[in-house]
Amino acid sequence: MTGSPMLNAVRRRHELALAAEQEADLLVVGGGITGAGVALDAASRGLSVVLVEAEDLAFGTSRFSSKLVHGGLRYLATGDVSTARESALERHRLMTCIAPHLIRPMAQLLPFSPAVSLRQRATGAVGFALGDLLRVRAGTPRSTLPAPRPIRARTALDMVPALDPRRLRGAVLAADGQLVDDARLVVAVARSAAAHGARILTRVRALELHRSGARVADALSGETFDLRAKAVVNATGVWAGDLDGAIRMRPSRGTHLVLDADALGDPTAALTIPHPGSVSRFVFALPQQLGRVVVGLTDEEAPGPVPPVASPTEPEIRFLLETLNRGLRTPLRRDQVRGAFAGLRPLVDTGAATTADVSRRHLVAVSDGGFVTVLGGKLTTYRRMAEDAVDRAISIASLSAGPSRTGTLPLIGAIAAPTPPARTIDWRYGAEAGRILARARCADPAQHIAPGIEVTRAEIEFAVRAEGALTVDDVLDRRTRIGLVDEDRARAHDEVAVIVEEALAELA
Ligand SMILES: Cc1cc2nc3c(=O)[nH]c(=O)nc-3n(C[C@H](O)[C@H](O)[C@H](O)COP(=O)(O)OP(=O)(O)OC[C@H]3O[C@@H](n4cnc5c(N)ncnc54)[C@H](O)[C@@H]3O)c2cc1C
Repeated sequence: MTGSPMLNAVRRRHELALAAEQEADLLVVGGGITGAGVALDAASRGLSVVLVEAEDLAFGTSRFSSKLVHGGLRYLATGDVSTARESALERHRLMTCIAPHLIRPMAQLLPFSPAVSLRQRATGAVGFALGDLLRVRAGTPRSTLPAPRPIRARTALDMVPALDPRRLRGAVLAADGQLVDDARLVVAVARSAAAHGARILTRVRALELHRSGARVADALSGETFDLRAKAVVNATGVWAGDLDGAIRMRPSRGTHLVLDADALGDPTAALTIPHPGSVSRFVFALPQQLGRVVVGLTDEEAPGPVPPVASPTEPEIRFLLETLNRGLRTPLRRDQVRGAFAGLRPLVDTGAATTADVSRRHLVAVSDGGFVTVLGGKLTTYRRMAEDAVDRAISIASLSAGPSRTGTLPLIGAIAAPTPPARTIDWRYGAEAGRILARARCADPAQHIAPGIEVTRAEIEFAVRAEGALTVDDVLDRRTRIGLVDEDRARAHDEVAVIVEEALAELA
């Protein structure tokens, strides 16, 4: 990386003007993980890149995931061995080189209790063993991801104190990768792309795409104009069909609940409870940063127009609580749910019977209009999706560029072998954490933004100065995840607004 990774209102203004004048090699549409990945892949090959995002980085599905960096076990269950291997390999790259600072090994616990039938226990144990084979094949050492093992009931209860101890016959423990936050991965990839010269322009919506550019609208100035590029990639996820008439989407909604970690006794492992009667679908209670546990997830057809932000439904919330409660000593109540969020899976309509059957492998296609659409896949496999999309764009536009470099390219903030961080700020920013605190200009930079919310005032300022946040909501909902709990949002809002305003004024 030779350029600056700083994204902010001043850089946006300057680069928007340049983008309107100069033809880029590649125009990327969409600032989720896929679009950010495409921008980084192309810029790191030396191509000139402009990325336009209608709202904010990570505005779409990418911030509503389960935040797992999967080893591909799910694909094995459907017999898709090559996608499973690809997922395990991408997990390996992410955890060992690309973003080790943002990902931790997460212990996953399947209890041998009445909530899990004998068949579910056997299938779960075999599944974890197969998942471990994928780890071995990908070359991921046990020091990065421990192998699965049986544990005693006492150990299981220590790890998940809320577990029902009655007729608990131990558990099986496995490990997978867990992101500190999905939106932070998107921001880190976008900033890394910016450091390679990519122009990352938020609040710019593509109205129409063609082979050599797009008609776009700048939401801040209200102006509409053309951007020219030798090739164009549509990475708009669940909205891809709006720009490419040949694509028919079949979105499925996945809902998660946010709970206080102490409601589950501050677990150190993710509790896994199978859906009643199923050996392939589960409800997970995943320990998170900021003293939370996230419980997910559902898979519900979401027909009709795609909303800007999907809403969880009450039956989904009840289903998640009821399924999890089967494994708990004291059932969780509805009033203990602190927040809920939903994301839409960008699945392509293949005519399958249910969305659970639709392929999760990614699609790279060239539209009739001559631009590339890249779609589907997973957060985990974003790098590979990006590589495939850029290869295709290079080939159709005869661009001159070498092969992808991103397989061994650390993101901004990456630390080669991070020790388990003592402060959550280290998990969120890796090598940048110290500098964020040391260089902040706001008062009391190390102080938390509100009592009980472990996000420092310096991070709010950094979001505006270096991470492209333009509004208070950008900070609350996408640079930090304070906004996932309404009560926290209300408590932090005014202080965040003051810091955002000061930082924007200083930049102006
Ligand atoms: C509930 C759920 C849980 C998941 N959990 C996991 C997980 O644990 N691990 C994992 O690996 N994967 C997971 N996934 C999958 C993963 O989250 C998605 O595959 C991925 O985030 C899709 O990213 P994207 O960039 O393609 O789409 P998005 O993140 O939706 O990005 C598309 C962007 O395009 C922008 N846009 C739209 N139209 C325009 C336009 N006209 N002009 C400019 N910009 C536009 C949008 O504002 C948006 O920001 C999960 C998915 C869901 C739904």
